[in-house]
Amino acid sequence: MTEMLFRDDAYLRSCAGRVIAVDDRGIRLDRTVFYPMGGGQPGDTGMLRLSSGQPIAILDTIKDGQDDVLHIPAPGAALPAPGTEVVAEIDWERRYRLMRMHTCLHLLCSIVPGAVTGGQVSDGRGRLDFDVPGSSLDKEVIAGRLNALIAESQLVAPRWITDEELAAKPEIVRTMSVKPPTGMGKVRLVEISGLDLQPCGGTHIRNTSEIGPIAVSKIENKGKQNRRVMLAFAG
Ligand SMILES: [Zn+2]
Repeated sequence: MTEMLFRDDAYLRSCAGRVIAVDDRGIRLDRTVFYPMGGGQPGDTGMLRLSSGQPIAILDTIKDGQDDVLHIPAPGAALPAPGTEVVAEIDWERRYRLMRMHTCLHLLCSIVPGAVTGGQVSDGRGRLDFDVPGSSLDKEVIAGRLNALIAESQLVAPRWITDEELAAKPEIVRTMSVKPPTGMGKVRLVEISGLDLQPCGGTHIRNTSEIGPIAVSKIENKGKQNRRVMLAFAG
C-alpha cells in the first residue's frame, strides 16, 4: 500500500520514500508524491533520485488496484533494490499545468448544465463531453464566463463525506463515465466555493486565479446529445 501524499497536499513536489517492490511493471514506494493516471488526469512524470545522486527517470505513473502506485521507469534504467531509500521528485511544471487545467474543467462543469459523459486533461489542454442538446453551447459565452470565474479568485478545497451522505445526494455526481471511489467509508469531494461540488480524486490548485486566461478552442458535435468542449491556456 502506497501512502499518497498528493491527496493531502497537491503542491508537494518531492518526498523521501523507500522502495517496497520492483518488477517488470514498475517501482513501488512506501509513499509518493506521484499522481497515478485516473479520473481523466494523466500520471505524473519525474525522477527517483538515489542517495548517490543518480536519477531514475519516471515516464508515467499508474495505479495498481485501489491502494498501490506504480512508478514506470524509462526502458533500460538500472532498477533499485527493495529497501533502497530514494527521493521522489515530480516534473512540477507539467503537474502544475495539469492541476490548473483540471481545476478549470470543474469550472466548466459549473457553467454547462447537463451530465458529463467524458473528459480528459492534457498538458496545456482539456476537454469535457456533455449530454446537452444541439446548438445550446456558445464558445464566446463559455469563455467569458470561465475567465470571469477565474478572475474572481474563488477558493478550491477538498471536503470529505461518508458513502451514505453521497448515496443520499446522487445529484452531485456529474460525471457519468467515472464512478466516485466509494467503499472506503468516505468519499473525497472537491468544492469551488458555491460553484461546484463533486467527488474527485485528482490534484487541484487552491485558487481559481492560478488557472490564468483560458480560451475555448473548439466545440464539437460528437454524436447524439454529446457536445465536446475543448479548452486551452490563452496566456
Ligand atoms: Zn477534480
